[in-house]
Amino acid sequence: MNSAETLRVDLGARSYDIVIGSGLLPDTGTYVAPFARSAGVVIVTDAAVAKLHLPTVQASLDQAGIAHHCVVVPAGEASKSFATFESVVEQVLALGIERSTLIIALGGGVIGDLAGYVAASLLRGLDFVQIPTTLLSQVDSSVGGKTGINSRSGKNLVGAFHQPRLVLADTAVLDTLPKREILAGYAEVAKYGLIDDPEFFSWLEENASAVIAKDGEERKQAVMRSCAAKARIVSQDERENGKRALLNLGHTFGHSFEAELGYDGRLLHGEAVAMGMVIAHDVCAAMGMAPAQDTTRIVAHLQNVGLPVRAAEISGVHWDVDRLISHMSRDKKVRDGQITFVMTRGIGKAFTSREMDVGKMRSAISRSCQNR
Ligand code: NAD
Ligand code: MG
Repeated sequence: MNSAETLRVDLGARSYDIVIGSGLLPDTGTYVAPFARSAGVVIVTDAAVAKLHLPTVQASLDQAGIAHHCVVVPAGEASKSFATFESVVEQVLALGIERSTLIIALGGGVIGDLAGYVAASLLRGLDFVQIPTTLLSQVDSSVGGKTGINSRSGKNLVGAFHQPRLVLADTAVLDTLPKREILAGYAEVAKYGLIDDPEFFSWLEENASAVIAKDGEERKQAVMRSCAAKARIVSQDERENGKRALLNLGHTFGHSFEAELGYDGRLLHGEAVAMGMVIAHDVCAAMGMAPAQDTTRIVAHLQNVGLPVRAAEISGVHWDVDRLISHMSRDKKVRDGQITFVMTRGIGKAFTSREMDVGKMRSAISRSCQNR
């Protein structure tokens, strides 16, 4: 077995390990054996991941003597739908499952969210293991227990908190991931530095190119530090009554761009988050609470790695600021009719507040949208 590191998500009876390392997939059977009982496992994955990585997982389960079935859904966000949810649920039930059947989510955030929600729903809750295969899912969505699907009214509006029993993050699996997807995941990595770890952000300024380029020590470090940050925040606030909201840094703005484009692939979530984090820092600088040089530094870093930093960079789109703002008020972060914003006093100093200067916010969004 390759050298792997283990982090713990502390949630009392729902605690679990995150195992991070290069080349873990061929040992899947060994890692999941403690959670797989005689009823066996059902792997849920998407067609793209199935082609690349499913045989490795199946061979490993065979080797460990664990009975397994597989359900494959189309790749892409459209699979987080009622229709696909129903199809997966019926296919899994048709296999004749028991309460002790283990679900394995093998894929990116789409599969993690969908399969996790299937696990949460079937027989009122089956155990599940996350095997995230995108950078975004390794550093963010596989940890924390948020599962769900999309509705006609919006993204992630139907779901449940259901913690996995184990997260297995094999950084070697990212070698087959397109560069654009790596970069999108990288935006969430940078986010952890911006929230409360300025030293990590500085480390990323030095090491981002290695993190992005290939499976190596730097990439493993970045996944570990990101997971450690997420685990720490989730342990303190599992159901997002407070601190967990910090993970939404840049997201209220980012979601408005995504909603406007209808999740059609022109803009990946991480790209929207990169643009949103810049707006969050820009507006806080304009409000006099954060140093303007920090915004400059963030823009330079995100630009260096190849992420979009302004909405105007998305070609062929004419943004309407009023429409973007109207999307924000439909965000899940609205409570008692007011939006909770993630604000900042600078790099590594994020906090939540409802005290937003709406005029300055509008100007910051306009600056992001205007061609220069
Ligand atoms: P994704 O799951 O759609 O994966 C992106 C693409 O990469 C897909 O086409 C997929 O088939 C492909 N792919 C996956 N692994 C691959 C690999 N190793 N090699 C080659 N191709 C591979 O998208 P994502 O960015 O991983 O996740 C986005 C989803 O995650 C969104 O639906 C979002 O709402 C959700 N999310 C959830 C949470 C949470 O806390 N639950 C947090 C953040 C995001
Ligand atoms: Mg995100």
